[in-house]
Amino acid sequence: MIYLDHNATTPLHPRVLDAMIPYLSERWGNPSSPYRFGNEAKVALERARKRIAEHIGCKPPELIFCSSGTESDNLALRGTAYALRSKGNHIITTAVEHHAVLNTCKALEREGFRVTYVPVTTDGFVELRSLAESISDETILVSVMHANNETGVVQPIEEIAAITRKRAVILHTDAVQTAGKLPRRLAELDADLVTFSAHKIYGPKGTAALCVREGIHLEALTTGGAQERGLRAGTENVAGIIGFAEAVALAFEHSETEGQRLWGLRDHFEKRVQATVPKVRINGARAPRVPNTSNLTFDSVDGESIVLGLDLQGICVSTGSACSTGDPEPSHVLLAMGIAARDAQGSTRISFGRSSQEVDVDAIVTALQGTVERLRAISSVGGEASHR
Ligand code: PLP
Repeated sequence: MIYLDHNATTPLHPRVLDAMIPYLSERWGNPSSPYRFGNEAKVALERARKRIAEHIGCKPPELIFCSSGTESDNLALRGTAYALRSKGNHIITTAVEHHAVLNTCKALEREGFRVTYVPVTTDGFVELRSLAESISDETILVSVMHANNETGVVQPIEEIAAITRKRAVILHTDAVQTAGKLPRRLAELDADLVTFSAHKIYGPKGTAALCVREGIHLEALTTGGAQERGLRAGTENVAGIIGFAEAVALAFEHSETEGQRLWGLRDHFEKRVQATVPKVRINGARAPRVPNTSNLTFDSVDGESIVLGLDLQGICVSTGSACSTGDPEPSHVLLAMGIAARDAQGSTRISFGRSSQEVDVDAIVTALQGTVERLRAISSVGGEASHR
């Protein structure tokens, strides 16, 4: 199998698994228990929190552990909206967010909040002027993702933070696709709330975090015990969090060299695919992107058919976000970038990762060339038949 869908999820790094195993076996205590056995789990949990905080550049208590990036996004958006309801009811986000943010905004609209979806340019950049002009006295929150999961396009969060600071509006960024991929400490983004998730960086599924900067108040969405400063009640996923800390450490240890390697690999791939397969477009290519992601549109070919065709050859790629796989709708991200619905339905996402090598690039280019040629031949025969 050649796995080229690292934006959907990544395998556990062996060092992560090693770090977790003791907490899945002999050290299974509850960190809230008062005796020594529980306290050992608590000490390990707090050590993991401190380790992640050091890499991210925040204070340990600012990290709230959740079960997924989706839950962290929900806590950021709903937590802020409910806490600040008396101040205003307006939220600003973008048209290209992950469904974890978009569908939460839609749900908040049904609860009476007003949401502005700021457009993006054809390169996938958020229109900053439009964002700034959308802010009113009623605005309580701006949520803009750091990098897009489909195209890899990176948004200028620091510039957006400068706008929101001036207007005293809270800024959330979903950094699920950048944490550990860019050699940056997330705290430097200057956002008030930052989401990131373990399973995108060779950590376990079921663990993520929301960084809630000091002084930001959220309303809890789960009520119960006092875990996670009362913002996320429930016994902590100790093994998962310890694995998360190991994954974050690994990601930041290697982000510069691994980033450079992935840039090279993607560059090689994009040059080769453009030279080999006719009528291919790379979406978001003119914008800064995370180094591992390439989003392609092949004229007259459906993305879903490419994914299935490559699967038969043992290659895993995606049509866009994992969560929308099987969804026949065109990508909302590409539509927002002004790409025609027919083409937006035909896109394919290749996301390289730690295991990717140059031989994988050669294999995917050859497989794409054959698959696209075959599918185009079928569609032109189908097209002719339907004209008869
Ligand atoms: N935000 C972005 C940008 C993502 O890419 C994803 C997952 O693909 C999520 C949020 C959701 O994260 P999780 O899978 O941890 O719920």
